[in-house]
Amino acid sequence: MQLWQDYHTPTSVEETIQLLSSYAGNSRIIAGGTDLLIDLQFSHSGPMLDALIDVTAIPEMTRMSEQDGSLIVGAAVTHTNIVKSALIEAKATCLVESCGVVGGPQVRNVGTLGGNVAHALPAGDGTTSLVALDAQAEVAWGDGRREWLPILELYKGPGVSALDSSRDLLVAFRFKLSKDGEATAFKRIMRPQGVALPVLGCAVWVRLDESKQKYDCARICIGPIGSVPTRATEVELALYGQPINDDTLEKAVQIAHESLHPRTSKYRATAEYRDYMIETLLRQALPLAVKRAQTGVAQAEGVGMG
Ligand SMILES: Cc1cc2nc3c(=O)[nH]c(=O)nc-3n(C[C@H](O)[C@H](O)[C@H](O)COP(=O)(O)OP(=O)(O)OC[C@H]3O[C@@H](n4cnc5c(N)ncnc54)[C@H](O)[C@@H]3O)c2cc1C
Repeated sequence: MQLWQDYHTPTSVEETIQLLSSYAGNSRIIAGGTDLLIDLQFSHSGPMLDALIDVTAIPEMTRMSEQDGSLIVGAAVTHTNIVKSALIEAKATCLVESCGVVGGPQVRNVGTLGGNVAHALPAGDGTTSLVALDAQAEVAWGDGRREWLPILELYKGPGVSALDSSRDLLVAFRFKLSKDGEATAFKRIMRPQGVALPVLGCAVWVRLDESKQKYDCARICIGPIGSVPTRATEVELALYGQPINDDTLEKAVQIAHESLHPRTSKYRATAEYRDYMIETLLRQALPLAVKRAQTGVAQAEGVGMG
């Protein structure tokens, strides 16, 4: 069965928006195609798409650039290229750790960070780390506006994005790179086969005080918990200004149990199992981020183990 009529490879954001507009809602953006082609093949019930608009030849969407302590990552940068970046490994380690376990090498070689976010699933591995990094997303809207907005504003429900991928384009992400006394870590639990999303993922960003013996502040994203990704704000608040020791970790774990209420998903895990794994992942990721922030040494773990 033919699923689309035309295939375009525009080379600029403006051309992409014009092409989408010319098809009046009956075309779709394609990046790596690892989610989209499966969706089109297995759930195709409506009329054939007029066109696919391939965004992988747009230079500003496939590059990474450092600006004033922040990194801008094009939405069409592949998971593999993120994993290969020594800068991201050193200064946004959780993103290398999450992109490094997406699917297998074939999926990572073509799958993009933008596709992971545009698909809008609260379990997306790239998503979990971008939330902990407090990333912003740059969107070129179909009506001609272009703006940066907090990444969480893109999520409206499971698989429901504020973006309409037949009209709007996710262009890039922007987040601050770690400075002295700051670091990140990501851990996840995944079924060995058969499903393409983790049971649970946990990304942590910490900033320590000058002595590096106390938390200054933290950002934590554990997901999926609800229908959209969220920060574990009560756990973050419990760490604020606290000494780095076992008591603080136990308190954080206790508050995570009390405040986070994961749901059961048919193919991946029960709520009870996820609740148990919240503790396991937090006990791994939080001390790892702290150790990296104290030592200034960050080497990604688990990459390629997807
Ligand atoms: C075997 C397998 C294993 C997988 N394992 C994992 C895993 O472990 N963890 C995980 O998180 N995911 C996993 N995935 C899901 C998927 O590979 C990732 O979400 C990937 O990042 C999607 O990117 P893509 O470029 O292939 O997106 P595409 O399939 O090209 O697009 C996905 C959706 O986003 C839209 N879109 C893409 N780019 C843009 C853009 N720039 N602007 C607006 N809309 C856009 C498309 O129209 C489509 O609706 C797996 C998939 C497969 C097939």
